[in-house]
Order: sequence, then structure tokens, then C-alpha cells
Amino acid sequence: MTDDGRARDRGVGVDAFTTPVLVVCPRCEATARVVAGPEGQRDGGAGVEVRATCTGCGYARAESVTERRLGGPEDPWLGLPLRLTTPCCGEVLWARNADHLAFLEDWIGARLRERSEPSAASPLRNRRMASRLPSWMLAASNRAAVVAGLARLRALLPQSPRRA
Ligand SMILES: [Zn+2]
Repeated sequence: MTDDGRARDRGVGVDAFTTPVLVVCPRCEATARVVAGPEGQRDGGAGVEVRATCTGCGYARAESVTERRLGGPEDPWLGLPLRLTTPCCGEVLWARNADHLAFLEDWIGARLRERSEPSAASPLRNRRMASRLPSWMLAASNRAAVVAGLARLRALLPQSPRRA
């Protein structure tokens, strides 16, 4: 309700990687992108303009959205299924885009280094991120499976420049 609360919610975490979101095109099943308008519009009461576009088939959808739902394998505004999902440890491992995937890879890499070098402190943003990750991703017994799952997600990325 307070601005403070919302500001905290926008801090470093999975919701830092919400645009563009790579989704499965509802028309041709190629990779489509969901892009939200300028952040400043979000609190104006009129919602934020969200566009889904697919260069494969020309699918286009634009909506003014007032609510976003974070934390699942769908885009936060339109609810389209994410492109980057894979079954992992009986759950679904997902990322919204290449930056989000790179962040998860870095985070898992830091955990592996931490284990071999216990004195090395993980970067602060990694620790904040960790507090938002599901417990099954944090379990040491699942680490190898999560690393393999992240590699599967990377293989799903569209062939395009890494930072596109
Ligand atoms: Zn399409």
C-alpha cells in the first residue's frame, strides 16, 4: 500500500527482469516478446501499456494492464506461457529472458564457488535474490539438477545476439 512497500518490491529480485519477457506465441508457437511501457506509468492509475509481438507470424496484442502477477512461469501481465521453462526436480524451472537466465546462472555459479571457498562472500544482490528463490532451487541435493536445467533453458534461447 505504501510507496515504501512498492519500492522494496521493485528491488533486485526476479521482478528486475520483466522486460522483455520471452513467451510462446499463442498463434504460431515461435518465441514472442512481451514488453511493458515506461515504469512511470505504472502508478498513474491508468495502468501500464503492455505489448506482445511475434516477428514470426506478425501476432500483435497491446493492452493497458493495471496488475502484474510475479512468481510463476507466465508473463506477469498477459499470462502467456514463458518460452524458457523446463521440468526440474518435480517443479518447473523458468526464466523470463536472457538476462534473468544469466542472473540465475551467475547465482548458481556463486553458490558452487562458495562451497569450495567458504570464506568468499557472495555479492549482496545474490543474497537478496536467494531470499526470493524457491526452496527446492536452494537445496544442495538439487544443485546438479538445477545446473542441468539452466543449461536446458539456455539451449531454448532464440538464436540472437546474447544481449539482444
Ligand atoms: Zn507467432
